[in-house]
Amino acid sequence: MSTVQRSPSAAEALLADGTTAIIRPLVPADRAAAFDLHAVRMSDASRRMRFFGASRLAPRLAADRLCGPPRPGFLALGAWAGGELVGEADYETEEGHEDTAELALAVADAWQHRGVGTLLIEHLVQAARERGIHSIEADTLAGNRAVHQVFSDLGLPVHRRFELGGIRVQVALDEADERYREAVDERGRAAGVASLTALLRPRSVAVVGASRRPGSVGQAVLLKIRQGGFTGPVWAVNPYADTVAGEPAHPSVTDLPAVPDLAVLAVPPAAVASVAQECGRAGVRALVVLTSGLDAATARQLMHACRRHSMRLVGPNSLGVAQTDRAVALDAEFGGAFPLPGTAGVAAQSGGVGIALIERLAWLGIGVSSFVSLGDKYDVSGNDLLQWWESDGRTDLALLHLESFGSPRAFARTARRVTRKFPVLTVDAGRSAAGRRGAASHTAAAATPTVTRETLFRQAGITAARGIAELVETAALLHSQPLPGTRGTVAVVSNAGGIGILAADACVEAGLDLPTLPADLAAGLLARLPDGASATNPVDTTAAADPAELRACVDTLIHSKAVDALLVCLVPTALTVDAHQDPVRALLDAPARRRIPVAAVRISQEVPVQYLTCADGGLLPVYADAVAAARAFAHARDRARWLAEPASPEAEAAGTDPEAARRLADAFLTAHPDGGWLDPSGTAQLLESYGLPLTTSLWAQDEHAAVVAARSLRQVGHDGKVAMKAYWPEQVHKSAAGAVRTGLARESEVRSAYREFAERFGDRMAGVVVQPMAGPGLELLAGIVQDHVFGPLVVLGLGGTATDVLDDRSTRLAPLTEHDLTTMVTELRSAPMLLGRPGMPPVDLAAVRRALAALSRLATDLPQLAEADLNPLMAGPDGLVCVDARIRLEPLPVFDPYLRRLRRPPDTDAPEER
Ligand code: ADP
Ligand code: MG
Repeated sequence: MSTVQRSPSAAEALLADGTTAIIRPLVPADRAAAFDLHAVRMSDASRRMRFFGASRLAPRLAADRLCGPPRPGFLALGAWAGGELVGEADYETEEGHEDTAELALAVADAWQHRGVGTLLIEHLVQAARERGIHSIEADTLAGNRAVHQVFSDLGLPVHRRFELGGIRVQVALDEADERYREAVDERGRAAGVASLTALLRPRSVAVVGASRRPGSVGQAVLLKIRQGGFTGPVWAVNPYADTVAGEPAHPSVTDLPAVPDLAVLAVPPAAVASVAQECGRAGVRALVVLTSGLDAATARQLMHACRRHSMRLVGPNSLGVAQTDRAVALDAEFGGAFPLPGTAGVAAQSGGVGIALIERLAWLGIGVSSFVSLGDKYDVSGNDLLQWWESDGRTDLALLHLESFGSPRAFARTARRVTRKFPVLTVDAGRSAAGRRGAASHTAAAATPTVTRETLFRQAGITAARGIAELVETAALLHSQPLPGTRGTVAVVSNAGGIGILAADACVEAGLDLPTLPADLAAGLLARLPDGASATNPVDTTAAADPAELRACVDTLIHSKAVDALLVCLVPTALTVDAHQDPVRALLDAPARRRIPVAAVRISQEVPVQYLTCADGGLLPVYADAVAAARAFAHARDRARWLAEPASPEAEAAGTDPEAARRLADAFLTAHPDGGWLDPSGTAQLLESYGLPLTTSLWAQDEHAAVVAARSLRQVGHDGKVAMKAYWPEQVHKSAAGAVRTGLARESEVRSAYREFAERFGDRMAGVVVQPMAGPGLELLAGIVQDHVFGPLVVLGLGGTATDVLDDRSTRLAPLTEHDLTTMVTELRSAPMLLGRPGMPPVDLAAVRRALAALSRLATDLPQLAEADLNPLMAGPDGLVCVDARIRLEPLPVFDPYLRRLRRPPDTDAPEER
């Protein structure tokens, strides 16, 4: 058990109906509220269920028990909504049985069946697990359906024992596995969608701050809502005007004929907080704040109002939201034209990017299901929108522009689910190296924000484009064509040889494969094409090919199964133009082309991509440039691969000792509260506790000890040789400082090496590490970097001196799956060096997998591990051994990244107490 016990901090989360609740430990000051909960807010019947009787004293005793001074083995969490205590869950352990806790739960009558109990227990389970409790138990009355429902919905294994007068329920916390997480996810999704209904399908809207001044933001939004044909009432609120744009204005939200579901705020920054509070008190359920430039105090008050009154918040600094469903028809944004109704969900942190995306989709004729300009993302985030689109029954393509991530792990879990259903595309913003951390180790250097984010996208199946143009070009393909096969093979057909060659280059550079066509297929093609045509890949039909010949060629290729995708590049020729035909037309009147994805390239085209409609109503994407088409194909191939990836279990690591690792980390952090690098012996111990193979490393502090150490290692060392390294804390690259000597065979060599070190480093040197020489092998690098927002990243690459030069690494966010263990190796550029080549045996791949699995486990088990750099791991045909490792520990707040809680922007502090 961890020695550090903190009280869980307050967290805000959504109840099943979308109401915001605050979950936090009860304190003595809550006594009156706790008494009220039991005495006033619970009926006699509920109290009987809770206390197995109806003693008049029960509420007072409960309040005393829950709100006494803190005591070991006891924790009570309260759920607050609208400033009231609406439920409570607590556990208590008995002395001597600290791994089992007795649980009790009470929910106000008016708040039952709204997920209060489940949410409280989720948070209590997490706190109990952090405190080393393995099981929670509760006595319940057989007739207490509500409580039994809470337990069976939880997703944790529940054992029930029937006893006299009741049922003993036992919940095993150690089995909080994927099934539990999925149950938590599902509750989170349902609650999230419920809470967003007022935002994305409001029945009524108020625009607060709609001014008389034409061209002002408020007035613009008001007019757009009206012109968009919103199906419910829309009201203007402005205390200083009687009419706005010819309509009556109301002095405040409280003066409206009815309470609006949604309020759009276009008021000056100084008024945002008070208007938000007024909206909350009136019963508004969602806010879109267009205002920007809030100071920290206003931000805090805005958040407080939203959480206290259960309002979801878009913005501040948002351009607005739009819902195209005709039943709603809400255009509450001031950026662009009302988007066409359609099936693409669009959310953008930058409103400008959002508008650009919508405009370009409109060129293609792709409409939007809903649009949200997320702005500063105080509350509603990309994650919320993914869940909404997943459930709205209208969206089949999601386009996201995100500059920052509030909780990437929750986002990754949602995205992983949604990308199985439809494509999720993003513009990978902020790729530049700005903000890159100082590179203390090679592993850390590999974990740039870019790499981490790309890794997240890849592992979640998100299609990440490098810019808006690429995003739209890729969407054009994914939206209209079937996915290619996973091989990524393409045939290029052109009626101008040079264009075909350029297209072929573009495909290969995008990572696609242009196989030579089978001989019979090539012969079949040539038989249908004019003289001089060639049917290698690219296929050159020659300019003499007429539309019928082009079509025959394309159809033959589509039906041949020789390739996964077809790219047709056409230039107008005398033949095709004389026939009054744009050659691309030849592709349109053929029967359905749904077997493999087909795209056309028309160099003369002005727009980067457009759709042409085929005879069967299907759409053909036509690009101006083969490079764009090839990139889109590569994204489609990656998506096909992602979908084909087997559901892989988490990688298993055998022989790990998390207790030992935690003890070591706790001891180190007690001695070094700010964290730091472990010394060689601590490093060795920690790696050993996870079965990571560190070579024998003996510690010597004088010349004689070094000689003795070398003598004892001679038997083990390759060719009877040892390595010696000078050590001092905070050292970085030893060989660069001349602190590494390898291949020392004779005692005299050891002596002179030691003396040389002592002379060069003087007092700085704390001692030397003596190791047996590892046999020759491939030098690999493996490691962990903990990212405070993204979680731990596991890195594998080429190590030793090659590290910097070749920069060949693969990365995954932990935990790794079994499948990751394979692909991390195979995706390295230097994979052939690991997998073996003629004359060179493969390295011990099983050992590489074991090491990666152990690192992944260690990274997830020990969040205090900030950085681990194993470089090099000497990999031979039958073994893997690390000869140099550095580990840095950091005191980290421990919290469960999967716990359901609403995000908070960093500058608005902790949730208000109630
Ligand atoms: P640093 O990375 O701080 O410069 P290392 O301990 O990794 O220092 O040593 C540098 C290089 O020396 C390694 O990449 C490896 O090639 C070689 N080396 C170090 N220790 C051994 C050893 N025990 N056996 C074989 N080679 C070693
Ligand atoms: Mg090294």
